[in-house]
Amino acid sequence: MSKVIAIANQKGGVGKTTTAINLGTALAAIGRRILVIDCDAQGNASTGLGIEPSARKRTSYDVLVGDATLAEAILPTEVPSLFVVPGDENLAGVETMLHDDPRKNFRLREALAAAASQTAPDGQPMQFDSILIDCPPSLSVITINAMVAANAVLVPLQCEFLALEGLSQLMRTIDLVRNGLNPSLEIEGVVLTMYDARNNLSAQVAGEVRSFFGSKVYETVIPRNVRLSEAPSFGKPAILYDHKCSGSEAYIRLAQEMLQQERERSAA
Ligand code: ATP
Ligand code: MG
Repeated sequence: MSKVIAIANQKGGVGKTTTAINLGTALAAIGRRILVIDCDAQGNASTGLGIEPSARKRTSYDVLVGDATLAEAILPTEVPSLFVVPGDENLAGVETMLHDDPRKNFRLREALAAAASQTAPDGQPMQFDSILIDCPPSLSVITINAMVAANAVLVPLQCEFLALEGLSQLMRTIDLVRNGLNPSLEIEGVVLTMYDARNNLSAQVAGEVRSFFGSKVYETVIPRNVRLSEAPSFGKPAILYDHKCSGSEAYIRLAQEMLQQERERSAA
């Protein structure tokens, strides 16, 4: 059974997409079968996974509005066992399109449930060990769809001034979803991103976040690393672009840490 993880933080530019791309790649490299669903109109996760705009025939927009199944929208990537449902600018119109639909918050969950009987591009069933949903920087109907479809939310937090700002709003939204639409939604974890070891502020922010979230914060911290920001312009995950850079190594460690936690949870 897939574990569905919504990568969410309504704050822009905190590393949601970089995490979706590189955590997805790292998990696939460990041998997991992974699907990344790009739910952001910017389409950055699709670009970073090498999917040109012209190749995005069907996107998560079509899935959300019911014009395509997940199997019709899914594409393979350069990484074996890593697939993507691309996103595009049409997603900006989802809110309006679904406005009067009483099931509007369940679109993605229903599409995922229907996928069980569909076939992936490699001829295998549409089954994945993990599904990572890259959310837009808002608490819109798209992010709610992701939280309703998910088992858990992964929150990237940038190690800078005001990192915790807006977080109470994110937690309130998670609570609202839990209290109604998806009672079993959990917080998978908080991942600190763009950590700068030379900057006292990074350490201070990391300390504050750890005292607030405790063990929910991964030990692995993603450093600020220019290779992570260069890689998307080559249409490659950093782990393919430069697997030895500090950013790639950190995402590989994050994947290992998540799998270790998963093993501990299932043994408990
Ligand atoms: P948005 O809210 O706009 O969707 P996001 O939360 O998805 O943004 P990213 O796109 O992953 O954030 O990252 C924002 C910018 O910071 C990008 O240019 C990305 O390449 C860069 N970036 C992300 N993580 C790192 C890092 N660890 N080191 C250096 N640059 C990074
Ligand atoms: Mg993004």
